[in-house]
Amino acid sequence: MEKRVSASAVAETESMVEVKNYIGGKWVSSSTSKWQDVNNPATGRPIGRVPFSTAGEVDAAVKAAKEAFPAWRATPPLERSRYFFRLKELMEDDLENIARTVTRENGKTIDDARGSVRRAIENVEVVTGIPSLMMGYNLEDGAGRNIDEEVIRQPLGVFTAICPFNFPAMVPFWFLPYAVACGNTFVLKPSEQVPLTQQRIFSQIDKVGFPPGVINLVNGGREAVDCLLDHPDIVGVSFVGSTPVAKYIYKRAAENGKRVQAQGGAKNVLVVMPDANYEKAIPNILGSCFGAAGQRCLAGSLIVAVGDAYGEVKRRLTEATAKMKVGNGLEPDTDMGPVISKEAKERILGYIDVGVKEGAELLFDGRQVKVEGHPDGFYVGPTIFDKVTPDMRIAREEIFGPVVGVIQAKDLDEALSIIASSPYGNSGSIYTESGKAAREFRYRAPVGNVGINIGVAAPMAYFPFSGQKSSFFGSHHGQGRDAIDFFTERKVVITRWL
Ligand code: NAD
Repeated sequence: MEKRVSASAVAETESMVEVKNYIGGKWVSSSTSKWQDVNNPATGRPIGRVPFSTAGEVDAAVKAAKEAFPAWRATPPLERSRYFFRLKELMEDDLENIARTVTRENGKTIDDARGSVRRAIENVEVVTGIPSLMMGYNLEDGAGRNIDEEVIRQPLGVFTAICPFNFPAMVPFWFLPYAVACGNTFVLKPSEQVPLTQQRIFSQIDKVGFPPGVINLVNGGREAVDCLLDHPDIVGVSFVGSTPVAKYIYKRAAENGKRVQAQGGAKNVLVVMPDANYEKAIPNILGSCFGAAGQRCLAGSLIVAVGDAYGEVKRRLTEATAKMKVGNGLEPDTDMGPVISKEAKERILGYIDVGVKEGAELLFDGRQVKVEGHPDGFYVGPTIFDKVTPDMRIAREEIFGPVVGVIQAKDLDEALSIIASSPYGNSGSIYTESGKAAREFRYRAPVGNVGINIGVAAPMAYFPFSGQKSSFFGSHHGQGRDAIDFFTERKVVITRWL
């Protein structure tokens, strides 16, 4: 099958960036001997080098955060919020550069990158309201006659977040602004595959002039994570990444007495009812499955077509997919960029082979895609499997690439039972014009984020990023009111004046 590919003419002006840590208000070079290249997935060429920071460097970051905590905690919430007004302005001014850095190190299209930076900024906007968000509550005579009772919220100390590769700007901002605005101090550990975006954002954080040690950055991998999980001065851990690592983080941090919220992997189902508005649904489904090359935790990866929707969805989806242009995300007409790495590409191609062996039929095969000018880029074309059954590995396991399977179901009941049988519960969507079917779906689907005629049900900053089953471990989600609860302790005070 012939693919339309991009003849790339995007000039590579970038020089190699040596990634630094930001500790106690200063940029610091790591003294480690272990470094890794940061690659541009569109070209396959290195654009930076990231250190695997030593235990001593992680400790220095936590120490700086611990020392900064008492004064930061004592800074009134209104004053703390003003730092975030300033950060918002600086991030707005630098939005285009941040977005280009996201695309260069992650591969997603520039429009998608811009949207993700906008989402990061929205979290900053929300915490500018921290004086209201952090309020407690009280009840006069709540504990008896002349005895009042109240709840106050207090910050706890040093928090950390350990982040994945797929949203280098946005995911850290599900946590950092809330933790810090609540009066805690913070150590961020970005993904070692995409550390450049936070170099850029931290240069803005540096300009804001937060007191030294309030916000710190350490780069690294597993060793740095273990130091954070075991560090006695870290009070809480936020994690986003794959399910096996989420489980590990949840267990180890909890064993060490810390608060944990750990968001894991996904296998999201898009249910198409026969009465769906196909004109609107198909582009939406295409964006859900192939946007960011299928590397969103909210990406649709299974389409369950109910009754007559089956033939219609297959025909329309294949036609629309054939028009997609795969290429360098910096080119404005690219619909889908590369996947993150050579290893990811091999894993995804391996899954396509698995699907073929399992007996699924390829409606659209992305294995041979070539992008002119970028022979070494990590490209996998959009791939659609038909005749998928719920027990196949390609239906049960997270592929995290541009591969989607179509399953036929006789009715909504059967579609819901397919969702229920998945170990994951991140999100699920239904396409229908029936309010009754939509309500039934909302009521019964065991997923944290529900889309009704929406293929990527991404909660706004003031709503929690939910997730259930193996997609989330913990009780408080990122963002929204959950974030304020996670980053504060509620203290009860009972008062009697004699
Ligand atoms: P990953 O689990 O490989 O890595 C995430 C982070 O954990 C990185 O910072 C990495 O350095 C660290 N890490 C990796 N292995 C570790 C180990 N053995 N011990 C300690 N730390 C370790 O995830 P990824 O490949 O970067 O990201 C993709 C995954 O993230 C997908 O599974 C996707 O579904 C998931 N994700 C989930 C959400 C959500 O909200 N649920 C959002 C985005 C991404």
